[in-house]
Amino acid sequence: MSKRIAILPGDGIGIEIVAEAVKVLDHFQRQGLEIEMLEAPVGGAGYDAAGKPLPDETLELVKSSDAILLGAVGGPQYEGLPRELRPEKGLLGLRSELSLFANLRPAILYPQLADASSLKADVVSGLDIMIVRELTGGIYFGEPRGIRRRPDGQREGFNTLVYSEPEIERIARVAFGIALKRGKRLCSVDKANVLEVSELWREVFTRMGAHFPEVQLSHMYVDNAAMQLVRWPKQFDVIVTKNMFGDILSDAAAMLTGSIGMLPSASLDQNSKGMYEPIHGSAPDIAGQDVANPLATILSVAMMLRYSLDQAELAANIEQAVGRVLDKGLRTPDIMAEGCREVGTAEMGEAVLAELSA
Ligand code: NAD
Repeated sequence: MSKRIAILPGDGIGIEIVAEAVKVLDHFQRQGLEIEMLEAPVGGAGYDAAGKPLPDETLELVKSSDAILLGAVGGPQYEGLPRELRPEKGLLGLRSELSLFANLRPAILYPQLADASSLKADVVSGLDIMIVRELTGGIYFGEPRGIRRRPDGQREGFNTLVYSEPEIERIARVAFGIALKRGKRLCSVDKANVLEVSELWREVFTRMGAHFPEVQLSHMYVDNAAMQLVRWPKQFDVIVTKNMFGDILSDAAAMLTGSIGMLPSASLDQNSKGMYEPIHGSAPDIAGQDVANPLATILSVAMMLRYSLDQAELAANIEQAVGRVLDKGLRTPDIMAEGCREVGTAEMGEAVLAELSA
């Protein structure tokens, strides 16, 4: 049966990089993969088209789809809008409306790019970490929240960090499951020395660990985890953490690999329906210049094929094609190195396609 894929380019470089990733899906479609692709606006583009960052038609489309490919949202022209209308609200809305509670962010260092990392090559070469970030709970969604005036007349901002036991259990299940399929080591990152939420988080993970005896579970405070990630990142296999810590640690892990433009991500619900997107933002500073790296978005298509469309072989084909393009020395400016040839967004996309067709 044909699978429906919602294509949401969003804003900024989202438009250029998603166009390249769609070419890869087109290629597989021509070869017989039964998919239907439908495009809709989100983020600033949603606001421009329908007056809100997550238009009703877009929400209807994503709900009826098996998978979603998203570019990125945001741009300086939308920064003055009321919070409810800002592009990022569209993204948070998609995650919560679809209950995409498990965010998978691999940080893999392609050997061809070992020199692009800001760390020494021997510290990062062969790096292969999976960060599992809880995505629909925690401080980004907790109520009450707001900015209020205190009795003394001063204003104060406040947010709420809250996690229920079932929320912790379901992300733990995903994280243990992924660790089982990888190196069987899971590090749960928290701040249990200060936060009650983390105390419960650690207790639940320890209890769940008993159901996964093959997985070696460890716990680490988030400040130490940040330090260890830049000291000796290869000590980690799978890291699992709450929403805000995961947001920060996964960006740090991304930088270990040399470019934010190389890393895909998946956000899954209970039934493996997923939204796939590069981990970077809309990069307004380089939008429209044909310099953005499309590989993170193309590799997001690989994750989509693996996790939502049950096409692991096609996913591997994409990953290998990307490896061969790097072997040939083609680089977008963000990963450019001596002796390589600089190419633009479209040429990089075409090069991957050529490898897939070869
Ligand atoms: P960003 O990720 O857009 O850019 C950070 C830096 O990385 C910039 O210098 C940019 O040019 C570079 N970069 C990012 N992607 C690249 C690519 N594919 N190839 C080459 N270089 C790349 O983060 P930012 O500048 O903090 O945010 C810009 C906008 O994106 C903001 O409006 C922000 O809210 C939004 N944002 C959206 C998402 C999302 O849609 N998931 C995530 C983060 C930020």
